Amino acid sequence: MKILITGGAGFIGSNLTRRLLKEKHVVTVIDDLSTGSMENIKDFKENKHFHFELGSILDIDILEKVIKPVDLVFHLAAAVGVEYIINNPLKSIEINVQGTENVLKLSHKYKKKVILASTSEVYGKNGNDTLSENDDRILGSTTISRWSYSNTKALDEFLALAYYHEKKLPVVIFRLFNTTGPGQVGDYGMVVPRFVKQALLEKPLTVYGSGDQTRCFTHIYDVINALLPLMTNEKCLGEIFNIGNPQEVSINALAEAVMRKADSSSQIIRHSYDEVMGKNFEDMKRRVPNIDKIKKFTGWSPTLSLDNIIDDVIKYNKETLRF
Ligand code: UDP
Repeated sequence: MKILITGGAGFIGSNLTRRLLKEKHVVTVIDDLSTGSMENIKDFKENKHFHFELGSILDIDILEKVIKPVDLVFHLAAAVGVEYIINNPLKSIEINVQGTENVLKLSHKYKKKVILASTSEVYGKNGNDTLSENDDRILGSTTISRWSYSNTKALDEFLALAYYHEKKLPVVIFRLFNTTGPGQVGDYGMVVPRFVKQALLEKPLTVYGSGDQTRCFTHIYDVINALLPLMTNEKCLGEIFNIGNPQEVSINALAEAVMRKADSSSQIIRHSYDEVMGKNFEDMKRRVPNIDKIKKFTGWSPTLSLDNIIDDVIKYNKETLRF
């Protein structure tokens, strides 16, 4: 297939690109390099099945040029990382709302299938034991800019579903829970690469809040394996899927595990959310995926544990000295 990946120079997009090229697809990436990097895609430059377009999904002309010739669009371009979103609220809303509208409009014009990336942030503060696709969204005040991310991605989902139902545009939506692994940078939040870098440098590990909040981390390799069947499985059209690993860990326990595995004698240093995120910040206590639906539709389930993730991120950072 000829596939366009918006945001293909990001952490997830570049891993998806690598895999799709390996499977002999022809891949075009459009990326404005706001959070992605040329470093992520440098390995593919010589591959004749790979094309890179430097540009924004806010630019209709460039977007039209890259959407027209492909068979399928993976729409991954979005503002990512809690810290990025808090520091760039306007740009984040614009890219997530206007950008996705552009992608869907043009995909409809040229009749292209769209696989849309969404996020577990849409569930907001819902702290249920597990979160299923149809569960309620629980959000805070509009004065807390973190929640704008949840709302913009939810609006993306509404738009995609409206195109599916009203215009018969083939769409599939997936919600990623915390995705991490080798190659991810800790510049925009992203606690795992950040803790690993701090531990390897023997610097204090920065735990925000009490550290009792929990997250579920999925290895990027598992995530890529989950995405492939969504391209071809007809049953998935018009559906939303959680992609995540239900293994839950507190941020305190994560810090300790990273220090142990990195053989680090760093200390843990605690910061209040106020200190690092400013006054108007709210975190969620937990976010655990229910993955029954994707299992049922595609047979996918995660294979790599948190231990595997930490080991791989430590190994990668030691090898590349990307810190
Ligand atoms: N976090 C932390 N120290 C850091 C970065 C993040 O304690 O240096 C916490 C953050 O407050 C959150 C969790 O780790 O509770 C996961 O943060 P991340 O930014 O990786 O993803 P999120 O789940 O917030 O989207």
